[in-house]
Amino acid sequence: AFLDQIARNDDAVHAFLYVDAEGALAQAAAVDARLDAGETMGPLAGVPLALKDLFTQAGLPTTAGSRMLQGWRPPYSATVTQRLIDAGIVILGKTNLDEFAMGSSTENSAFGPTHNPWDLARIPGGSGGGSSASLAAFEAPLAMGTDTGGSIRQPASVTGTVGVKPTYGGTSRFGVIAMASSLDQPGPCARTVLDAALLHEVIAGHDPLDSTSIDAPVPPVVEAARSGDVSGMKIGVVTELGGEGYAPGVEQRFGEALDLLRAAGAEIVEVSCPHFSYALGAYYLIMPSEVSSNLARYDGMRYGLRAGDDGSRGTEEVMALTREEGFGAEVKRRIILGTYALSSGYYDAYYGSAQKVRRLIADDFDAAFAQVDVLVSPSTPTTAFRIGERIDDPLAMYKSDLCTIPSNMAGNASGSFPAGLAPEDGLPVGFQVMAPPLADDRVYRVGAALE
Ligand code: GLN
Repeated sequence: AFLDQIARNDDAVHAFLYVDAEGALAQAAAVDARLDAGETMGPLAGVPLALKDLFTQAGLPTTAGSRMLQGWRPPYSATVTQRLIDAGIVILGKTNLDEFAMGSSTENSAFGPTHNPWDLARIPGGSGGGSSASLAAFEAPLAMGTDTGGSIRQPASVTGTVGVKPTYGGTSRFGVIAMASSLDQPGPCARTVLDAALLHEVIAGHDPLDSTSIDAPVPPVVEAARSGDVSGMKIGVVTELGGEGYAPGVEQRFGEALDLLRAAGAEIVEVSCPHFSYALGAYYLIMPSEVSSNLARYDGMRYGLRAGDDGSRGTEEVMALTREEGFGAEVKRRIILGTYALSSGYYDAYYGSAQKVRRLIADDFDAAFAQVDVLVSPSTPTTAFRIGERIDDPLAMYKSDLCTIPSNMAGNASGSFPAGLAPEDGLPVGFQVMAPPLADDRVYRVGAALE
């Protein structure tokens, strides 16, 4: 049924870069065989999923939305991919994303943008716009995302779906194409809070193949999603994430969600996190620095594209031509920014200062979580904007992630949940819940209370 829905819809939405119909049907048959053989399988056995094309899946095309990796087929699967397959989840194919997960609209994909199913002229968010659009278009019931600065939560927000960034180290990065390794985190996308929690449970937990993986029990996310009981919970509204620049409909629906939580027995207070205002600036120094290092591996020798290798050129020239041709404008912009920020003489002023700001943001979180159980804000300041509207204005684009970036900087758990439609344009609004590291269950508990 989902393959049929993709065939009917996806020419217009373009959520998928690659549909693996044959592989999906074979995986489904394998689940049937396991069940027939008497194996007890989890609740998601046989449920289809759309996989962001940043996750390797052995033998299948994996592009990261870049010409650089066009035609590359990884020899192994990411830990997350493998855990999905082991749980009997059926992978429908690979979804579209901003090139190397850099963007907030999916317009930076080398293979054309994804369209928001709520209004095809609008963006589905980014970088994981393909995953969230596949859910909103009913082309898949589950999807996987990765979140470096908001790429799970902001697309969830603007497509009216659920997306959770687990605690950093809670899900494995092994086999996920790296953007900024100290910030990247895989996480679940779904249409309901419980579906997201069930998927979270499948993918989370210690992985010895990822050096930053946390060796601790997976928080009780499914129990929390089933309960949704927020009575007695203390919820902090972040002063700095609201006001000027936030769409009236976003603020209205956010306020109504607070009323709902209050009615359900939660206590709502306001909490100031003074350094959150500097998060975006610090992110755009730390993230590009890591990008410039991580993307050095695309040298035209090891994977995918190789340009100008006709025997007349030396190695360095082939590398330069390959990188010129293989990377899009946004990726080049970040490599240049990052290389500059890390260069000797500037390192302390830029990268070093940004790391200090990162510490102050984590301290703000610590101080806040000493007073409240969770922090909340809108997920993103506006509803889905029009395709083309911000593409020539990187700063306007970067502001989409104002609310989501602090959680990546500090590594805590954070999710976006549907909060209704903005009256002025009828488009989805997202409600963000942030919880301390390893308290991912609180994110689901509040999300479920709003459902
Ligand atoms: N939109 C943000 C950026 O462009 C976040 C990306 C992400 O989380 N992968 O960096």
